[in-house]
Amino acid sequence: MKIYNFSAGPAILPYEVKIQAQRELLDYNNSGMSVMEMSHRGKVYESIHNEAITLLKELMGLDDDYYILLLQGGASMQFEAIPLNLLQNGKADYIVTGNFALKAYKEAKKYGEINELASSKDANFTYIPDVEGLAPTQGADYLHITTNNTIFGTRYTKLPNVDVPLVADMSSNILSEEMDYNKFSLIYAGAQKNLGIAGLTIVIVKKALTENPMSICPTMLKYSIMAKNNSLYNTPSTFSIYIAMLTLRWLKSIGGVKEIQTRNQEKANLLYDYIDNSSLYSNPVRPCDRSIMNVPFVTPSAELDAKFVKEAQEQGLLALKGHRLVGGMRASIYNAMPLDGVKKLIEFMKKFELENA
Ligand code: PMP
Repeated sequence: MKIYNFSAGPAILPYEVKIQAQRELLDYNNSGMSVMEMSHRGKVYESIHNEAITLLKELMGLDDDYYILLLQGGASMQFEAIPLNLLQNGKADYIVTGNFALKAYKEAKKYGEINELASSKDANFTYIPDVEGLAPTQGADYLHITTNNTIFGTRYTKLPNVDVPLVADMSSNILSEEMDYNKFSLIYAGAQKNLGIAGLTIVIVKKALTENPMSICPTMLKYSIMAKNNSLYNTPSTFSIYIAMLTLRWLKSIGGVKEIQTRNQEKANLLYDYIDNSSLYSNPVRPCDRSIMNVPFVTPSAELDAKFVKEAQEQGLLALKGHRLVGGMRASIYNAMPLDGVKKLIEFMKKFELENA
């Protein structure tokens, strides 16, 4: 039976990436070693490391004003690193659109005067607040947003047009659609959704913003130190970086962000169209703010939801249980999810609807 993994993260990898990694697992490029066992200071590893950085820059169309850092600690570590590196006037604004945005906001509060500029908590995070005409706090060092909300299934389709540095948690939608990535002053993302496996966190930051970390900023969180050492200040997560490099090569080989956006949009449209026309399932998100990566949906009862998840799993459709904050189901359809996976899910949903209406 063909298996499809709808996990929110760590998540599905492109099949080609797994095959390539398997082929090279014992002996990478005739080095006689696995990537897992080679020094991060050696030439062979260095070429993997630098190719990952070059591919990120190329695929995102970034100009030369950025450092691209390959770090550890997850996106969660960046909730702290960002204020510790960027606060100059001691003030920042956050838009709170979900659980991770809230965590980022709360961590930052330890380090300065942090304002909740807008929030969608009033409707259980089922929409993105209107960012048009949003005025940042006077003297704010940056505005933080979460471009895709993994748990609630929302995404920004319009970016705030502000004159303070824009900082974005893109953990769950980096490289999923075309965006002017140069509009951001800092982008960060855990790798375990669209960039490979857990253990690697990407930080893309304007060089000029890294020069004045707060005095209490730990050395390991200083972007300037990591940049000066090309993210080799200490031992990086070498195998995760290798898988990210393969994932980026795969993305480039299929036509880059433009092509993956077309594919992602097609998958998401199919699924939302089916849900909207069904009498059993519903999605609570305002249609214009729907994520094309994470699609939450419910049936009318928790019992039926549980039955759905169990029977789907028996059919090879894995990890569809929704996050505990939302309940129901969630289909995460990241870059690596093939169209066939979504079609198979819809087929199952139809059958389940017939049997349980
Ligand atoms: N931000 C977002 C949008 C996420 O989806 C996640 C993880 N699912 C995190 C932050 C936290 O990431 P990590 O577990 O890598 O710290």
